[in-house]
Amino acid sequence: MRGRGGGNRGIKAIACLLFVVLHVAAIRLGHGSASPASYAFLIAAPWIAVFACLRFARRDRATVRIAWLLFAGGLALWGCGMIVAAWSDLVRGASPLIANATDFFYFYYGIGIILALGLPDSGDLVRRFFWIDALQAGLAGYLAYVAIFDVAPFSGVASHPVSASLLVTTYNLENAILVAAATLRVLGRSADPRRRSFDRSALWFLLCYGSCAALYNAWTTTTSFAVGLDEILIDIPFLVLAMRRPGNGPGTDAIPDTSPGDSPGDSPGVGRHRHPLTLLVDGAAPTFFTLALLSLSFVVARRQFALGTVAMMVAMGLYAFRAGLLQAYHLRTQDALAAASDQLLRLSLQDDLTGIPNRRAFKQAIELLWAGWHADASPLCLLLVDIDHFKSINDTLGHKAGDECLFHVAVALRDGLEGAGGQVFRYGGEEFAVLLPDRAPDQACLIAETLLDAVRRLQIVNRTACGEHVTISIGVAARTPAMRTPTELMSAADRALYVAKNAGRDQVAFGPSEPGPGDEPQTAPAAAAALAAG
Ligand code: GH3
Ligand code: MG
Ligand code: MG
Repeated sequence: MRGRGGGNRGIKAIACLLFVVLHVAAIRLGHGSASPASYAFLIAAPWIAVFACLRFARRDRATVRIAWLLFAGGLALWGCGMIVAAWSDLVRGASPLIANATDFFYFYYGIGIILALGLPDSGDLVRRFFWIDALQAGLAGYLAYVAIFDVAPFSGVASHPVSASLLVTTYNLENAILVAAATLRVLGRSADPRRRSFDRSALWFLLCYGSCAALYNAWTTTTSFAVGLDEILIDIPFLVLAMRRPGNGPGTDAIPDTSPGDSPGDSPGVGRHRHPLTLLVDGAAPTFFTLALLSLSFVVARRQFALGTVAMMVAMGLYAFRAGLLQAYHLRTQDALAAASDQLLRLSLQDDLTGIPNRRAFKQAIELLWAGWHADASPLCLLLVDIDHFKSINDTLGHKAGDECLFHVAVALRDGLEGAGGQVFRYGGEEFAVLLPDRAPDQACLIAETLLDAVRRLQIVNRTACGEHVTISIGVAARTPAMRTPTELMSAADRALYVAKNAGRDQVAFGPSEPGPGDEPQTAPAAAAALAAG
């Protein structure tokens, strides 16, 4: 993989070098600059970069694809500017309209780039709000163009000629803003590796473009627009961009495509652990466009009242609309999060296999009942249920049969408790716990007997010393004023279960609160009789 990528890179480097050498030859043979041959290279360079960006876009996903497409759009505008410049230079008597159109394209290229850099990390936000941001940025770009180049709106005709130094300052400022935006993005380190790669590529290109443009502008303004080998400077940033491998930083391996889907918002890791700078850029980008649009509206309104006023109203209207949409989006997200959190809580308290509440739910329930209890309050009984010789089902019929048995027993216990006011929990393995609030011990023992019957009626095959079918043993305990914690009630029920098991299984045993001589747990018939008598 690495070898093939390296090979491709070598070929690309040679092709770029050849491009530059041929361009130099074209300038030399064409007797200097602005010859048709030289223009062919000047036009080809940005379009090579455009196609490279389109290729990167095809290989990337979600928001990064849109970012590459916007970047390609910006470069395409630049390429159009060069075509118009060639037309203006090569066709005699080019009108000032054409010269303005060239600057319009060169200037507007920055709008595509700033939109690509301002694209939020979250695909969902891109889907919903991008068109508003694009509209604002497009309008702001147009107003800036009208204000800086002093062009009459919608005519393309400049009221005054623009000085070369104002042009150079404008372009240098635009390039500096683009480099600053790309630097913020790179420093923000997006959670999506592909986005990081895009941000790095954009910064490399913009740094290169900004430096070459500054050099070129300084060179051409000091030599009265005499252009020669300096034209090579124009090729360099585009060739540098075209040479980059998609999804790669310099010297790094290809980033595995971990995006699960094609839709925006599916980027890996997006939305989690976002860098504060990324949050700042994501949050400020739309406001930046509105602010730019508003301030430019004021500037333009001084000379072009109608255009400026309409732009102001559009800026405020779009901002209000965006704010409304964002608010609705956040409210919906909040609702969805609350629902997801409820669902998670439900799942965390439910046993996967049987569908009944799990041990965590049992712990919560018993602690809640315990907290609301006072010594003189109503009784609370606990039943610990254990399937007899369960291991033999696993051993003879397999684990799946064991799981099915657990499921059916759980359902039988749950259904058997209907009307008894109790709740069954899977306590662990083949053990279940039943909480019976407001039930006296004798009632609890009778309910336990009905549960025993319910399981017997299932007639799940399990040939053991107990018989042909699955049976259960139940230990019953009741809370007493002497008990201080739920664990003491649990221990009492556990001791009773032990008695039921030792007495031959398939039966209920009732255990008093404290273990001790003469206070041993009794099997249910004796216990029920004793309780009824007492
Ligand atoms: P006793 O009558 O004394 O309770 O005997 P027993 O075989 O029921 O009890 P023992 O503790 O010896 O075995 C319990 C078995 O339950 C061991 C364990 O592999 C199995 N078991 C625990 N959880 C699950 C489960 O989720 N599915 C299945 N199939 N088996 C389980
Ligand atoms: Mg057990
Ligand atoms: Mg068992």
